[in-house]
Amino acid sequence: MKPAPYTLHRPTSTAEAVHLLSTLDNARVLAGGQTLMPMLAMRYAFVDHLVDLNAIAGLDRFSFDGEQLIVGALVRQRELEVSPLIAEHAPIVAEALAQVGHIQTRHRGTFVGSVCNLDPASEQPALASLLDASIVAEGPRGRRTIPFEEFALGFMTTALAPDEMVTEIRLRTWKRGHGFAFEEFARRRGDFAIVGAGVMVSIDAGGLIDRVATVLCGVGGVPARLDLSSLIGQRPVENAVNTASEIARRVDAIEDTSASKAYRRHLAGTLVARALHRALARAADPGRPS
Ligand SMILES: Cc1cc2nc3c(=O)[nH]c(=O)nc-3n(C[C@H](O)[C@H](O)[C@H](O)COP(=O)(O)OP(=O)(O)OC[C@H]3O[C@@H](n4cnc5c(N)ncnc54)[C@H](O)[C@@H]3O)c2cc1C
Repeated sequence: MKPAPYTLHRPTSTAEAVHLLSTLDNARVLAGGQTLMPMLAMRYAFVDHLVDLNAIAGLDRFSFDGEQLIVGALVRQRELEVSPLIAEHAPIVAEALAQVGHIQTRHRGTFVGSVCNLDPASEQPALASLLDASIVAEGPRGRRTIPFEEFALGFMTTALAPDEMVTEIRLRTWKRGHGFAFEEFARRRGDFAIVGAGVMVSIDAGGLIDRVATVLCGVGGVPARLDLSSLIGQRPVENAVNTASEIARRVDAIEDTSASKAYRRHLAGTLVARALHRALARAADPGRPS
């Protein structure tokens, strides 16, 4: 199928893009186009105006400010996947992105576009949740910074107004040497996950767990963070993995044509156990090959 007719705009500044979004009816931002273009072609989405961000200089900026990784709106998924900055400060991002679509889609698709799209099965909103992301949005009323938990309102629904665009996402990094793992189950390689689990963990000088964070994608409208605070102070042994798995199995999961609620809960328990197991091994020996 072909998309219904629309007018394409190619602004060269964020101010111009915001002006277009705030003055045109039924306008939508275009970034990597890996979701929006198929949606238009299949006529699941209709727009009168596409505001293509790709000619705006500076939106492809990717940097580290000492605490946060700053990901511009045009930074491609593949660039993050192979970035030395990611390898050093947030290696879970590379591990999760390697499971997103295909190398071709990752060369074009943007991390920011995926977070804005907020597909419930997507790895990228889950990473934004896990890394306590701040979303920087620009609109006719100026710039605002939105914590991810306030940005992700529900099934494919964000706090972004129709006349706003996201210019960058800031990901809060953990101290070096932390353990991490992203595990998911999809029917075929490259498909969206039915359920995915991201885990980050650190171990103190006495060999006890001192910090842990876990997120699930594919269980509800927005990424689900699990409360694993009961693991703090525990030895990083099988018991801790079993406790985490039990907590994950109790998550409030959705049911749809892809999987039942019970199956999603089963996957959540299994994937969290696998991810925590690998994350603990990495935290105990940060130098070991993955
Ligand atoms: C074959 C295939 C397999 C895929 N598999 C996966 C997968 O396994 N996991 C996964 O997570 N994704 C998957 N994707 C989707 C892919 O990751 C997309 O790249 C991503 O979801 C959207 O990013 P984009 O830059 O392409 O955004 P676009 O398609 O350009 O836009 C997506 C939506 O976000 C909005 N948007 C984009 N950027 C901004 C911005 N800066 N400000 C405000 N709104 C914005 C757009 O208006 C649109 O509504 C797959 C895609 C394909 C084609």
